Amino acid sequence: MSSAYQHDTPAAAGAPIGIDDLPIRPELRGKSPYGAPQIDVPVQLNTNENPYPLPAPLVARIAERVAEAARTLNRYPDRDALELRAGLAAYLNRTCQYPVGRENVWAANGSNEVLQQLLQTFGGPGRTALGFEPSYSMHSLIARGTGTGWVRGPRDEGFRIDRDTAVAAIAEHAPDVVFVTSPNNPTGTATPAGTVLAIYEAAQAAKPSLVVVDEAYVEFSHHDSLLPLLDGRPNLVISRTMSKAFGAAGLRLGYFAAHRAVVDAVQLVRLPYHLSAVTQATALAALEYTDTLLAYVEQLKAERDRLVAELRAIGYEVTESDANFVQFGKFADADAAWRKILDQGVLVRDNGVPGWLRVTAGTPAENDAFLEAVRALKKEQQA
Ligand code: PMP
Repeated sequence: MSSAYQHDTPAAAGAPIGIDDLPIRPELRGKSPYGAPQIDVPVQLNTNENPYPLPAPLVARIAERVAEAARTLNRYPDRDALELRAGLAAYLNRTCQYPVGRENVWAANGSNEVLQQLLQTFGGPGRTALGFEPSYSMHSLIARGTGTGWVRGPRDEGFRIDRDTAVAAIAEHAPDVVFVTSPNNPTGTATPAGTVLAIYEAAQAAKPSLVVVDEAYVEFSHHDSLLPLLDGRPNLVISRTMSKAFGAAGLRLGYFAAHRAVVDAVQLVRLPYHLSAVTQATALAALEYTDTLLAYVEQLKAERDRLVAELRAIGYEVTESDANFVQFGKFADADAAWRKILDQGVLVRDNGVPGWLRVTAGTPAENDAFLEAVRALKKEQQA
């Protein structure tokens, strides 16, 4: 048994049973679940969370709205989440000139579920999805989980998507779904609108296929959202989340904006009543506090820019970041550097990009602790 996930079953005498002893799908055999190490240290800057807890008045408002929802918990929730989708559309409209209505917006339990529903609808057995790597590894994992083939698209040595290389890759592989993560995780790199347009055109010529722009971090970007590109492009989807800018990773609320036909299409695979009444009530309360929450985003952007400047001053290489995290290096042994930083009580992320680590922008005090740790590491490396 090769699986790392073996369990003794009290009832069964003899050999312990592991995942690989079960009649699971062959492509899942020997694989590990996604997840960053959860280590209890004072400074946790490894999962791109917002470090600021929700403000007390919002916590009180959530309690109020959830109490209201609780009165009818004997009933199923609004299956179409109409009020919430209207609220999300209103939020998108205030930050972007391109008008979307609630019929253009779909919501689910985190953008991971949104992406899963999109792959269930537009991917699946016999179909393929392409993403430009290194990027958010859940894209390929959700592809695997939905039986969709995965094609690794290229980024250049600066982690940018080169327009011509991208177009050539799409023409070669003719994928059914294309992912563009902008700003990209783990590198922080934004992709210009012109490149996304070229990718869209290439994807339409090759198949046509669905192009999903994953804008989980766009509120932290120096650039505008690509939402206006939706105009006249029915096979384009922009996915978003309340996990980062809204500081509500625990809520599990992701959403996308697209042509209304895409919203209709995902209804074919969504589970009925997938968004609980408690989730809908909480998300609506958070939307009422958009201004307050976006003020935290401004603070985090300033801290992100400070991290970039100070890491460079210390002597590290830094990838230009449009997200709430920074990729820094280069290390001969990134895993050893990760451990040394951890030894100083600071948890960052090794995303498996050779030579690089990623740090999430935290509070000023957390960032100071991180900078102190990497300053010490640099001194040690130079000694
Ligand atoms: N997209 C990207 C690029 C991400 O980095 C993440 C979370 N790390 C997600 C989507 C998923 O976020 P959630 O499911 O919390 O909305």
